[in-house]
Amino acid sequence: MNERKSIVLIIMDGLGDRPSGKLNGQTPMESAYMPNFNRLARRSLCGVMHPFHNGITCGSDTSHLSILGYDPEKYYTGRGPFEALGLGMKVNPGDIAFRANYGTRDENIITDRRAGRITKNTSELSSSISMKVDDIEIEVASGVEHRAALVMRGKNLSDKISDTDPHHAGKAVVDPEPLDPSGERTSMLLKKYLVKSREILNDHPFNLDLRSRNLPEANELLLRGAGVVPELENFGVKYNLNPAYIIGIPMIKGLAEMVGMKEIKVKGVTGSTDTNYNGKVRSIIENLHKYNFILVNIKATDVAAHDRDPLLKRHVMERIDEAIEPLSEIMDKTLVIFTGDHTTSSISGEHTGDPVPIMFASDSILVNPAEKFSEHACMKTGFSIRGLDVMNYAMQITERQEKYGA
Ligand code: ZN
Ligand code: ZN
Repeated sequence: MNERKSIVLIIMDGLGDRPSGKLNGQTPMESAYMPNFNRLARRSLCGVMHPFHNGITCGSDTSHLSILGYDPEKYYTGRGPFEALGLGMKVNPGDIAFRANYGTRDENIITDRRAGRITKNTSELSSSISMKVDDIEIEVASGVEHRAALVMRGKNLSDKISDTDPHHAGKAVVDPEPLDPSGERTSMLLKKYLVKSREILNDHPFNLDLRSRNLPEANELLLRGAGVVPELENFGVKYNLNPAYIIGIPMIKGLAEMVGMKEIKVKGVTGSTDTNYNGKVRSIIENLHKYNFILVNIKATDVAAHDRDPLLKRHVMERIDEAIEPLSEIMDKTLVIFTGDHTTSSISGEHTGDPVPIMFASDSILVNPAEKFSEHACMKTGFSIRGLDVMNYAMQITERQEKYGA
């Protein structure tokens, strides 16, 4: 039997965009000099991909779930777990995770939900209020400014818990109440925890210092968006593949870990626009004898668009184009899929619900060429799929799929 082709899935985060006045009415992809992408587009299966349902604007968490074949409607349980993954926290199925803010409390009134958008790193506060309460472990980790996440680890926990964040300054802090009877134990544990954490935060040198300088204290951890960490089927088992990943951003890295992919470490992978593009591509090629599925996330495209910088996004696309040149040499044995997880507009700086260009590139496959790799050219081919079908196509093209029927 022929050896089946390996699969490389390259997700350029926030890939697609909209026409920009700064680029003479073109999108960053259209205006970029991309000889490699454009040559591939003329011999590949090109089209667009709707990360979730048509026209739905996705976050990177839901779109990656979908593209990897995990239906967000079934597995997405709220932002808490993904926020925790994003801070590099370990989470296990059944754990409960919250998004959190350090806020300022005066008696029981929240006077500032962001503790004056505190700039000093709050890690020492977070470790001081990470503790055991009865039989469960509570861990808090800090993000940038006032942001944090809280994970509860243990048995019989529930995410049916109300926010403690009043969502408006000037309102009283709210107790974490059960939203249904399953949340009673979790609510009791959290209330106990919050009493202890307030005592610690009140007397913490970090806050004593702020108090002495008359600055808003970070004396209340406000919780919201409780979610239970979902049990995701192991990706390698689900598709009978030996999967690995090259990813710089913690949230997506955490997701890849959760589904059991192995990490390929590449020097200089930053999750930003200065990342090591060539190193990523070299590592793909070097590791294809070990793994038959490699997931790559390049965050730089999304970063440039969030910065509302279409010229930077164009530059990033040109850098990626240069880097992918060696991939054309492995297409006899590999299927390379180029796409994004969602589109990000470099005009508004926000994700959009536009479909994302997608290209399946490999030798000897059915093709639907596009004149170039861009939003409009890919739409014109008429080929359109859902995020949840990307892996189906990959499995089918590489002749791995089991027959549906007799
Ligand atoms: Zn994204
Ligand atoms: Zn984004």
